[in-house]
Amino acid sequence: MGLLAAILRTASVALILHVALSLGIPFLRDAFYPALLVVRPRPDHLPSPLWTATPARLHDTWGAVRSGGRHHEGIDIFARRGTPVLSTTEGLVLRVGHNNLGGKIVLVLGPGGQRHYYAHLDGYGWVRSGQRVEAGTVLGYVGNTGNAHATPPHLHYGIYAAGRAINPYPLLRGSRGNRASPPSPQENRHL
Ligand SMILES: [Zn+2]
Repeated sequence: MGLLAAILRTASVALILHVALSLGIPFLRDAFYPALLVVRPRPDHLPSPLWTATPARLHDTWGAVRSGGRHHEGIDIFARRGTPVLSTTEGLVLRVGHNNLGGKIVLVLGPGGQRHYYAHLDGYGWVRSGQRVEAGTVLGYVGNTGNAHATPPHLHYGIYAAGRAINPYPLLRGSRGNRASPPSPQENRHL
């Protein structure tokens, strides 16, 4: 009887361990993900959030004067309505929502604790708050919601670090573009 009890005890410990590992490890991994993200280095270049917008086609609109004495805190990238908006980094979706200026917006926590703000979306991708995304995940689609209703469809992309907006343009301009973009003439020369 002592042997049977020992076997049962071992089996139940194994079962409990199995359940704990299968449930507990992914939970722990997700619980620590925001902390892991925050301690990762900030990217020194980023892929374009629109496959149609190669770095050479981007225009620096940082600091341009806007209504109400505001200054433009981001970059505007014009594209056809419905063009997919791709996450420029891996990260955690903080918000899928709506505000007066941005219209339909998605906010993503990225490496180094930077927050990436995608605004004026026509609609959202298959993302929800709390979801992990990779660079290239479709967050939404280009539109002109919010205060862009009188402007042609474009993506407003902003990056916030330590509560302050930083200019995305140099980061995007330094990139070699999204994977989907054709090679630039510069790259062709090296082939
Ligand atoms: Zn803008």
